[in-house]
Amino acid sequence: MPNTPSLLDEMGLDEATLSWHQLAHCDGMDLGWFYKDYEEDEQMAIAMDEVCLACPVMRECFFDAADMKDYGLRGGVFLDNGKPDKLRNAHKTEEVWARIQERLSASSTSDI
Ligand code: SF4
Repeated sequence: MPNTPSLLDEMGLDEATLSWHQLAHCDGMDLGWFYKDYEEDEQMAIAMDEVCLACPVMRECFFDAADMKDYGLRGGVFLDNGKPDKLRNAHKTEEVWARIQERLSASSTSDI
């Protein structure tokens, strides 16, 4: 029986050297969408929240950014110095926060 190529093979990725960045849903997207455009355009912010919510590495992204005290949209949450920015996340509904918490809380919800 012939070997069926794995999804990683089809994507040209090597499991041995794979990093979560290579699976980022936002790979190739305009960086401005994660900073300035997000801050200035609520419809863009809502759309970008959905990009993160569809990302397979949302959890890794959020906790890495929190550790690095990062700024901008990471893991579905706009961060400032690695902490959720109240003003820039103000457009999020309770339903969206619940979806974000569910994705980020595979083991804990106390970090967000
Ligand atoms: S969670 Fe959002 S910012 Fe992070 S890698 Fe995925 S799409 Fe990009």
